[in-house]
Amino acid sequence: MEQLNDYKIAFRGLKSGDHAFEFAISDALFEAFENPEVKGGSGVARVRLDKSETQLVCDVEIEADVVVPCDRCLEDCTIAVDYEGRLVVKFSEEELEYDGEVMWLFPGESEVNLAHYIYESIILSLPYQRVHAEGECDPAMMARLTIGTEEELQAIEQRATQSEEQSGEWEKLAALKAKMEENEQ
Ligand SMILES: [Zn+2]
Repeated sequence: MEQLNDYKIAFRGLKSGDHAFEFAISDALFEAFENPEVKGGSGVARVRLDKSETQLVCDVEIEADVVVPCDRCLEDCTIAVDYEGRLVVKFSEEELEYDGEVMWLFPGESEVNLAHYIYESIILSLPYQRVHAEGECDPAMMARLTIGTEEELQAIEQRATQSEEQSGEWEKLAALKAKMEENEQ
């Protein structure tokens, strides 16, 4: 998981107060976590870190484009993710579990790795339904997947055109009939 070293902040040498960091998000982040649902992505994570004696407060902003299979046509589909959240890093001699808000480090540690937090925040920001914008699905895939309904649709269209033509004929006939009747009078 060497790729994940790119998301570390070495905070030990930092002065108290605000510090800004920027991390590039690339396919490597998603590959490292081996999530079959995500094919890749790119973007940026901006971190404002407020260092104090007892904790680090990280305000994180993520803007990323994530590539996932489209729920409708199964082809690659890019979903824009916008995330804003806060991660607090605290210190304890005890080994404590990260609960989604507070991450615990041992007092002697000098680096915090945000890879997992950034990855998880992106995954949790993905919409429930992941589909292309209307009309942007792969038409070949759609035809293959919906062949039954496609045929039905064509049949309905054909029926509609036929009846339209017929009703056109009837209108013409009716007009002709009316004209003839007028002439007779
Ligand atoms: Zn699609």
